[in-house]
Amino acid sequence: MHDPIVIIGAGQAAAAFAGKLRTLGSDRPVTIIGDEPVLPYQRPPLSKKYLVGEATFDRLLLKPPAWYETNAVTVLTSRRAVAVDRTRRTVRLDDGLDLPYATLVLATGATPRRLPATIGGDLQGVFTLRGKADADALMADFQPGRRLIVIGGGYVGLETAAVARTRGLEVTVVELADRILKRVAAAGTADLVRDLHRSHGVDILEGTAIARLVGADGRLTGAELADGRTIAADLAVVGIGVAPNAGLAEMAGLTVDDGILVDEFSRTSDPGILAIGDCARFPYGDRLIRLESVQNAFDQGEAAAATLIGGGGAYMPQPWFWSDQYDAKLQIAGLHHGYDTTLATEGPRPGSHAVWYFSGGVMIAVDALNYPAAFVTAKKLLEAGRRVSRADVETKPLKELLV
Ligand code: FAD
Ligand code: NAP
Repeated sequence: MHDPIVIIGAGQAAAAFAGKLRTLGSDRPVTIIGDEPVLPYQRPPLSKKYLVGEATFDRLLLKPPAWYETNAVTVLTSRRAVAVDRTRRTVRLDDGLDLPYATLVLATGATPRRLPATIGGDLQGVFTLRGKADADALMADFQPGRRLIVIGGGYVGLETAAVARTRGLEVTVVELADRILKRVAAAGTADLVRDLHRSHGVDILEGTAIARLVGADGRLTGAELADGRTIAADLAVVGIGVAPNAGLAEMAGLTVDDGILVDEFSRTSDPGILAIGDCARFPYGDRLIRLESVQNAFDQGEAAAATLIGGGGAYMPQPWFWSDQYDAKLQIAGLHHGYDTTLATEGPRPGSHAVWYFSGGVMIAVDALNYPAAFVTAKKLLEAGRRVSRADVETKPLKELLV
């Protein structure tokens, strides 16, 4: 067998990479190493339909089990890569096996940040949510009437809060920043999402720090806030962001700085090693970014595979995101980094809103809440590289923007 490809990490990016290789006709041997006990699956339902009990795990699999056999892609589950020897071109697994590679792909994802044990972060009843095992553990504790503190008002926190309310828990969200969704959406969007949660009975505390989590017999009983207040709780979900899994790359001497640094072709500082998905930081215009999204893991995985077999161009993503909370859908097209003005518009149906972002008078992104037409329009315009002015968005119907 010639030129083996080894992929570390069996997630969204790894599945996209392997799938694209085979679609493009490559028959190079592929081995995917994953430390979870299951085949690659979608994570988004873990904080949505799976957590609420509306989707079974087999529906989350990215490819049916037979696909791997038919396509001669070996997946080693419950195995962890612990070292990379770049001189010998081997990957050491946790059982001592050395796997040779001609091309190595790092698709290691990211790990949730935790609260330190010194402030109660390791008490029983304190959860993070990244994988199936986390969701399964959390579901067992999701019983009506229990009191949940959600720490962090980002995507994980707010989606979990919505599911918890649906399942009859009492929910308080504690956000350190002055408002929820600060990393990803405009203040106007956050106002609407806050109203949505409050209308469902969620208590949202912004600009509020947790001083420490407190417990009895090792189990969480509540939280003390920095302002002296206390909250009683039976469980807590910590959704305070993630750190890219770059330790293996760092140990192997690759360049790492808030993620594994890659060029526009997903090549690390060692051109025989690629990095894709949440763990990779890549050039985007005049800066370096990491994107934590399905769109990025999928598109960067596919682009890197195409490049490897000689057909791909530079990776320049058109980012988009979504979040489902209760019956509401938030869809975001573009990146709002660097915006100087925003414009709020209303959709045709009650409850549909959009916030458009502009930089130098040109539209760069939109947050659309229950307003798919605004999302789709902005996404198409951005993908086509069209420069749309604020005046156009203010005065023209959506359909005319596309003409
Ligand atoms: P991952 O999917 O995290 O896969 C990496 C895999 O590598 C993991 O299984 C990890 O355990 C494994 N691994 C790491 N190190 C090693 C090692 N040394 N050896 C072996 N295996 C290793 N994005 C959206 O766009 N929309 C959403 O609605 C959305 N919802 C989400 C909901 C939740 C609860 C979570 C956790 C994430 C959500 N995301 C969403 C983010 C999205 O799932 C991630 O951006 C995406 O999964 C990144 O794919 P990846 O392949 O880079 O990493
Ligand atoms: P996130 O979107 O970065 O949000 C974390 C939030 O917690 C931020 O608002 C952060 O504020 C706040 N925070 C940080 N430290 C805190 C503290 N000590 N106390 C209270 N609040 C604190 O990350 P996440 O929600 O944890 O999500 C984890 C990952 O899963 C991300 O990659 C995310 O993209 C992904 N995910 C995506 C979706 C989706 O796309 N729909 C859904 C679920 C998960 P600061 O910004 O000020 O630090």
